[in-house]
Amino acid sequence: MNAARSTAFQSRRFLAQVVGSNKGQDQPKASSYKVVVVGGGAGGLSVASTLSETLGNNAVAVIDPSDVHYYQPLWTFVGAGLKTFDESKMPMSEVMPEKAQWIKNSVASFSPNKNTVTLANGDSISYDYLVVAAGIQVNWGKIKNLPQTLGKNGVTSNYAADSVEKTNEFVKAFKGGNALFTMPSTPIKCAGAPQKAMYLAEEQWRKAGIRDKTNINYFTGLGKIFAIDKYGNELLKICKARNLNINYFTDLTEIKPDTKEAVFNIIGGDKKGSQLTLPYDFLHVVPPMSSPDFIKSSELANADGWVDVNKDTLRHNKFSNVYSLGDCSSLPTSKTAAAITAQSAVLKHNLLNDINGEGKEPSKYDGYTSCPLITGSETLILAEFSGYTGKPQETFPFDQSKESYLTYLLTKELIPEIYWKSMIKGTWDGPAKYRKLFGSA
Ligand SMILES: Cc1cc2nc3c(=O)[nH]c(=O)nc-3n(C[C@H](O)[C@H](O)[C@H](O)COP(=O)(O)OP(=O)(O)OC[C@H]3O[C@@H](n4cnc5c(N)ncnc54)[C@H](O)[C@@H]3O)c2cc1C
Repeated sequence: MNAARSTAFQSRRFLAQVVGSNKGQDQPKASSYKVVVVGGGAGGLSVASTLSETLGNNAVAVIDPSDVHYYQPLWTFVGAGLKTFDESKMPMSEVMPEKAQWIKNSVASFSPNKNTVTLANGDSISYDYLVVAAGIQVNWGKIKNLPQTLGKNGVTSNYAADSVEKTNEFVKAFKGGNALFTMPSTPIKCAGAPQKAMYLAEEQWRKAGIRDKTNINYFTGLGKIFAIDKYGNELLKICKARNLNINYFTDLTEIKPDTKEAVFNIIGGDKKGSQLTLPYDFLHVVPPMSSPDFIKSSELANADGWVDVNKDTLRHNKFSNVYSLGDCSSLPTSKTAAAITAQSAVLKHNLLNDINGEGKEPSKYDGYTSCPLITGSETLILAEFSGYTGKPQETFPFDQSKESYLTYLLTKELIPEIYWKSMIKGTWDGPAKYRKLFGSA
């Protein structure tokens, strides 16, 4: 390195040390920010990107302990061997907005009356505005023996980074027998994903010629296969045609690894209060979920533990400088990344309105959400609806409750591109404008 380049390199390094950088967690960090965003997932990044661009360098901090950012919707494809796990992840340092500060730590508690959060290492960070986007907590330990059984002897889940590849491995190794797929009675992220795993596995077993040796049962804690009947009715037809047995009001409570049995509590219907024990050769588990403990125990939580926000404006019902979006929020709609596309646009409008004091009309969220129900390696039912009205809000000018190859390709190839290149960069506000363009709004 010549002397001039060496000096330039050293001064850049010195500068980086002084002002800090989102790429490194060892850089000195400020303890006060205009906006603090808790969580660098789908919701946190889509908000932090726009806010940091608008407010400039180091006005926004994102607090997240994870080295890796996952595009979780891809895990259904990964579990079926249709995408690789690597395609679902990026180093957090590479997706963090350039102008935001990444504080690589966990939030342990909130003090909304003092406008501070406390980190797991005891540091206190203060804010003018707070955005909470910490996702949902998957309660693996609530099913007896699940933590030690997961990823072994046919027990798997598409809901964890370290077991999703096992789904494909176990589906391929399966030689016939009892295959069970579960869905809990609690709210979960992507309520369609538990059954998508079943449709994709069934197709593989059919193609492998072992379908007639295989019993497939789906156990849901709920009383319906899908919340919106327009799509649920089509799914029921598919289940009937493909001999997939649906069992309602059944919650998995225990796995007996020694005898390879699954134990269910029956929580509704004629046999309410009883238990059912079934042998399994393949078991795809979706555990109960809840708001994260550190939110549940905070003043930000409603009675059910979620961040208590107004369903229209996404502003906290008690603390006016606090907002929330995504899976940890109380928004009464289905918890998906698709829902966040519409939520983040509303949140950013309203929060920037507060900051700039322009007194613009608040933007309102209409409950839009979407669930791409993958029914095979070339078919998909694209459910799009408002969780607030229960009415479909479809983008395309055709009946999306019918299986389609076009929406399959869109979900598998185009939407991941939109996610990485636009959604988490803060420039994708969801498909509402296309609904207008196609005349479907
Ligand atoms: C198998 C599967 C399939 C799915 N399929 C679809 C689909 O097809 N379509 C769709 O739209 N959605 C789908 N989803 C749901 C979607 O991934 C989530 O709804 C979305 O990621 C929620 O975004 P979020 O920002 O609320 O939470 P996340 O994206 O989960 O991000 C939360 C972030 O908060 C961080 N965090 C947690 N605790 C703390 C703490 N104490 N302090 C600081 N940071 C913290 C985490 O590290 C994480 O980075 C699927 C999910 C799964 C698991």
